[in-house]
Amino acid sequence: MKGIIDELKSELGSVTLVAVSKTKSNEDIMKVYDLGVRDFGENYVQELVSKMDTLPQDIKWHMIGHLQTNKVKELVKRNIYLIESVDSIKLAKEINKEAIKNNKVVNILIEVKISNDINKTGCSVEDLDYLINEANNLSNIKLLGLMCIAPLTDDEDKIRSSFKEMKKIKDKYKLELLSMGMSSDYRVAIEEGSNIVRIGTKIFGERNYNR
Ligand SMILES: *Cc1c(COP(=O)(O)O)cnc(C)c1O
Repeated sequence: MKGIIDELKSELGSVTLVAVSKTKSNEDIMKVYDLGVRDFGENYVQELVSKMDTLPQDIKWHMIGHLQTNKVKELVKRNIYLIESVDSIKLAKEINKEAIKNNKVVNILIEVKISNDINKTGCSVEDLDYLINEANNLSNIKLLGLMCIAPLTDDEDKIRSSFKEMKKIKDKYKLELLSMGMSSDYRVAIEEGSNIVRIGTKIFGERNYNR
């Protein structure tokens, strides 16, 4: 594992590495933690919350999975570092409401559905303007940037053009963060201007969902 983390660190430079640890045990996470990684990403609230409650408090937790409004409270009352998967005004308002209750400001990214895949989550490019404006008007959330998942394809040109479009949108709204790139496409993402990559399989190996 040390070899992979060292390799990623030198390859990534100033790009933030988020180690995606969904389905992985606390022991596995601690191995990566002990190599100096502090940003971890999770998809499921229950799993995330139990890890937040047991693992070191200096971990910066990124919520990267689809988030239901009724689960927001659990994340906001704990120290969630960044919610990357905000895709509706309803969700943004709920996060804001809980943030006010807890007297804090919660950092968010808006997840963009960059490929026209009907199965994908995220805000459509058409609705983005509205969501960004609304999010910027909420007192206790801070919109820092955008996140996307590349289209599911082996066609690198398609993936690259999606990433290019994301970079354009990020620049248009003068946002700071752009979270794109996973194990199979992070190099392309960085070439196209990503500054956060979310890497699971390359670090931890394949996931087993029916443990
Ligand atoms: C699981 C997941 C990742 C990590 O994917 P790998 O291919 O294992 O690197 C990144 N982003 C999101 C949103 C994910 O759900």
